[in-house]
Amino acid sequence: MKKTHPISRHFASDNNAGICPEAFAALAHANANHAVGYGGDRWTSRACNLIRKTFETDCQVFFVFNGSAANGLALASICRSYHSVLCHEVAHVENDECGGPEFFTGGAKLRCLPGKGGKLTPQVITSALSQRTDLHFPKTRAISLTQATEMGTVYTPAELRAIAKVARRNGLGIHMDGARFANALASLGVPPKAITWQAGVDVLSFGATKNGVPVGEAVVFFNHALASEFEWRAKQAGQLASKMRFIAAPWVGLLSGGAWLRHAAHANRMCRLLARRLKRIAGVRLLHRPQANAVFVELPQAIIESLHRQGWHFYTLTGPTEARLMCAWDTTPSDVEAFAADLEGLMAPTSRRRAPARTPSRGSSRSAH
Ligand SMILES: *Cc1c(COP(=O)(O)O)cnc(C)c1O
Repeated sequence: MKKTHPISRHFASDNNAGICPEAFAALAHANANHAVGYGGDRWTSRACNLIRKTFETDCQVFFVFNGSAANGLALASICRSYHSVLCHEVAHVENDECGGPEFFTGGAKLRCLPGKGGKLTPQVITSALSQRTDLHFPKTRAISLTQATEMGTVYTPAELRAIAKVARRNGLGIHMDGARFANALASLGVPPKAITWQAGVDVLSFGATKNGVPVGEAVVFFNHALASEFEWRAKQAGQLASKMRFIAAPWVGLLSGGAWLRHAAHANRMCRLLARRLKRIAGVRLLHRPQANAVFVELPQAIIESLHRQGWHFYTLTGPTEARLMCAWDTTPSDVEAFAADLEGLMAPTSRRRAPARTPSRGSSRSAH
């Protein structure tokens, strides 16, 4: 069968995927008739209740437009201007938010720490804490952890609890950037509470955009004292949606029937499939253990350029020879195979010609635009 269509799904980011059917249906449903604005509608209260049910605790929930706002405002709820936040050196809060956390906290400093696979450890945190405790350095007040991490790895409940122990001993609050929280959860197979409040997390930026909603993340406070006056903080930041039901309803669609975990598990499965398939190609090296929905592979730069010329979108965020391949809720096994076949064709054109083709390559039908 000759394929003539262009690549429709890429491995650039899970935010390149569309709205999942469950979220879309809820959005359409919420569009009927009038509803009260600014969160006074039944969709918003339903979404908040579903989040409380999900975490099996009486947490406080606020919706904002995106993850950067959720992170910045959450950190501002823990820190004052003279504080500092410990985070990993690849953290989104440091690298991808244009100084949002510093801005929203009014000047708190982010201190970036190293760690294998994008993860912080009690050791690296303890050592950072002991370096400076004097008046001349911003007082350490928070730890920001990303779950799943920017490197596609996950913190286990035990790892989180060990970090929380250090945090408690030193009076630090814990913020979790959960842009891919569902992927971490699906990977670990534990209840949501096991990697949040039971593991010492004070406030979670609960992401759903990459999981299938069109827009909107939730700031979830397990520590009620920190939530004090958050609605004013969010409003001032321009993060209070007037037609709030359109942020909240897709969450209802995702959470009420368990679609959020099904989609995350699917994305993770596609990622494992991709990793397995790529490992079979000579010259391809996996850089981190793929535990969520990202695969990082080392490839020759010329091959990366050729894949881009063939029309494949993906990023090399950590170095020119390091490709990050993200799977989303809508990634299919044939997307995985099409990408792998194109890569295989570029890596070893002669051996490929001899082998019987498993799937027709889409490379030839695609021009470089
Ligand atoms: C996508 C992402 C966010 C949120 O980014 P926004 O573009 O602000 O919504 C936050 N943290 C991580 C780790 C992410 O990958």
